Amino acid sequence: MIPQTFDYTAPRTLEEALGLLAQGAKPLAGGMSLIPMMKLRLAAPEHLVDLGRLKDLSYIRERNGAIHIGATATHHDLETSAALKARCPLLAETAAHIGDVQVRNRGTIGGSIAHADPSADYPAALQALEAKFVLQGVGSERTVAAADFFVDTFTTSLDPGEIIREVIVPAEDSGEGTSYQKMFQPASGFAIVGVAARIRREGGKIAMARIGVTGVSNCSYRARAAEKALEGTGGSAADVERAATLVMERVEANSDLHASVDYRRHVATVYAKRAIASAMGRSA
Ligand SMILES: Cc1cc2nc3c(=O)[nH]c(=O)nc-3n(C[C@H](O)[C@H](O)[C@H](O)COP(=O)(O)OP(=O)(O)OC[C@H]3O[C@@H](n4cnc5c(N)ncnc54)[C@H](O)[C@@H]3O)c2cc1C
Repeated sequence: MIPQTFDYTAPRTLEEALGLLAQGAKPLAGGMSLIPMMKLRLAAPEHLVDLGRLKDLSYIRERNGAIHIGATATHHDLETSAALKARCPLLAETAAHIGDVQVRNRGTIGGSIAHADPSADYPAALQALEAKFVLQGVGSERTVAAADFFVDTFTTSLDPGEIIREVIVPAEDSGEGTSYQKMFQPASGFAIVGVAARIRREGGKIAMARIGVTGVSNCSYRARAAEKALEGTGGSAADVERAATLVMERVEANSDLHASVDYRRHVATVYAKRAIASAMGRSA
């Protein structure tokens, strides 16, 4: 189907873009989610502001023990970034799981996060990494934690006129290991269940566990009961098994044509176990 008629502007500066967004225009990044929605007439923006020409929004750099990622960095940029592979491998690994080559070449981290598809991959990793998002509007800037940003299906805490300007994730600590494990829907690549685990070991014990989950319910979440169950243990097979069974604690699973509630719950437990075991294997 052909989208409804719209105006299109490709500003060269962030100030110009923000000015147009404040007047009600909608940001366009890779177009991988927005354009299909416009073609299906699920979205009908009157004015698109293309963020793609804002070159100072596409970067990946380390500063003071954190990695800063500009919103228009593509999935391919993240997947192939030497800085991420060395200092935050979980995010590079997660980016490599997204869709296909074409989607990874065009799609951006900012677009994926703003779209907040409940089956998107990044949110699991960003929850486990306790990422922060820098949101900018005309004359305003605020930083929001991933746990507070994802509100519901396709719903975030972005205010009208605001964009995601930057994503900030911590550089990996010594003794830390991470892993993203995903059951994907074969036609699209989206997660039926995706679990990101981040484990730090100290003196033979698990000192820190962070587990992010996507695909299971209306929005991504931290599996805090499972994290708690792991921390302080030696990480034996029984410890991992017990923690994995808690990954769905107080979470309502979704049902769709790809997976029933019971199946999703079961798969979440299996993939949590795999993600935790794999992260532990990668921790020193
Ligand atoms: C065939 C196919 C397979 C896919 N498979 C997967 C998959 O396996 N896993 C996965 O996670 N995703 C998958 N996707 C989605 C893909 O990752 C998209 O790239 C992503 O959802 C949207 O990013 P985008 O840059 O294309 O954003 P766009 O489509 O341009 O925009 C999406 C939304 O975000 C808003 N927006 C964009 N940038 C910003 C910003 N900086 N600040 C605020 N709002 C902004 C737009 O206004 C729009 O509402 C797939 C998509 C396709 C078409």
